[in-house]
Formats: sequence, structure tokens, C-alpha cells
Amino acid sequence: MFIKIKCPACQVEGSMSMVDPSYVGPYRCWSCRALFTIELKNNELVSCKPLSEEELKKLQEAKDLQNKYKQEL
Ligand SMILES: [Zn+2]
Repeated sequence: MFIKIKCPACQVEGSMSMVDPSYVGPYRCWSCRALFTIELKNNELVSCKPLSEEELKKLQEAKDLQNKYKQEL
């Protein structure tokens, strides 16, 4: 399943492959490299908010911590 996402910054359409019909997470435009937090529901884009590099880093660090924690269990 591929979802088309139009970049609010440069209007270039990108696509993401989706396993679930619902998704909340970071998306980076392949064209202008702008970062967004996108929310999908039933394969439809419901929200798209700008995301800073710093915020993305925090998200990734939080995810890394979760993964480490899971591995230890
Ligand atoms: Zn863009």
C-alpha cells in the first residue's frame, strides 16, 4: 500500500509504503528535505505539521531507548 503525500512546503508529491492504514510519525520530503509529522487514518492524510531536526532527533532517541529496553527484556 502506497500513500501519496504532498509536501506543504514545495508541493512535490512523495509516497510512503504503509503496512497499517493508520500512522503517526515523521516524514521527510525527498525533494526539499523538509520534515513533517504526518498523521494517516484509513489511508488518508489527516494532518501534516512541520517538524524540526531537533524534534526528529528526540523522537529517534526515544525510539532507540525503547528498542534497547525491549532487547534487555
Ligand atoms: Zn518538499
